[in-house]
Amino acid sequence: MAQCPKCQRTTTVWNRDVLSGVCWRCRNQAPAVRLGLGSLFAIFVVFQFAIWNSSTRVPHATATQVGNLRDQVTSLEHRIKKLQSSVDKLLES
Ligand SMILES: [Zn+2]
Repeated sequence: MAQCPKCQRTTTVWNRDVLSGVCWRCRNQAPAVRLGLGSLFAIFVVFQFAIWNSSTRVPHATATQVGNLRDQVTSLEHRIKKLQSSVDKLLES
C-alpha cells in the first residue's frame, strides 16, 4: 500500500502512476497529452526490450522479425517526436 502525494488517499502500487506516484484518480485528471506520451514511451520501452531480447537471448529469431520490430520502433519514435513537438508548442503558447 502507498499514499497518493496529491490527494493523500491510500492506493495500491498497481494503481499508482510509475513516474509521479499519484493514484489513478489524480492521474486521470492530468492533461491527455501527458498520458499519451507516457503510454507511447512505455510501448517504446517494450519494443526496445523485445529487440534487445531477440538479438541477444534468442539466436534463432529471424532477421525478418527483428527488422519488423525495428520498423515499428522507428515509427513509434516518429510519433513520440511529433507528440513531443506538439507538447513543446503547447507549452510555448
Ligand atoms: Zn490521488
